[in-house]
Amino acid sequence: MAHWRLRRLVTRRRVKWAGLVLCVLVLGVYVASAWYAARGWVVNEPKLAVYMGIGRGRLAFAVINSRTSADGGIPLLSPFRLDPLDRPSIDLWPIWFALDSFTATDPRPITITEADVPLWIPLLFLSIPTAWRWWTDRKAPPGHCRYCRYDLAGLNARAESGITICPECGKPTEREA
Ligand SMILES: [Zn+2]
Repeated sequence: MAHWRLRRLVTRRRVKWAGLVLCVLVLGVYVASAWYAARGWVVNEPKLAVYMGIGRGRLAFAVINSRTSADGGIPLLSPFRLDPLDRPSIDLWPIWFALDSFTATDPRPITITEADVPLWIPLLFLSIPTAWRWWTDRKAPPGHCRYCRYDLAGLNARAESGITICPECGKPTEREA
């Protein structure tokens, strides 16, 4: 039994579950952001300040780069904190994400990069591959390859590992007990 095949099976399973956990987490944040907003400045260095905000189904961040360092850092508007929203809602518009970058010179040269991302976009891009993994990993009939459903009857699994390598697609399937 090639050890890497067993490892690949374990890795596949971990990726599948990690994907599901991530999807549930992002979905939870998405739903919670209809009622609560978490926002504020999370980095305050002399030449770098980062703002992050999650609220109303959207993720926003701004990065301020300064070429000259300021005493005490770039002045911040507010520290990072969580607040309930006055009127709970999800902002669906603008439907797509926005990324913008511009420079300012007053009172000193800075570059500001802003992004606004609806949370359904990362949710979609996480859930498609996760759903695909769960779909391809669904239970095949006993004695069949779990990936391509090739009939493995008549193939002798190695007794010590309980894993059969599919001759059709080359992927490992655990033998039914
Ligand atoms: Zn197969």
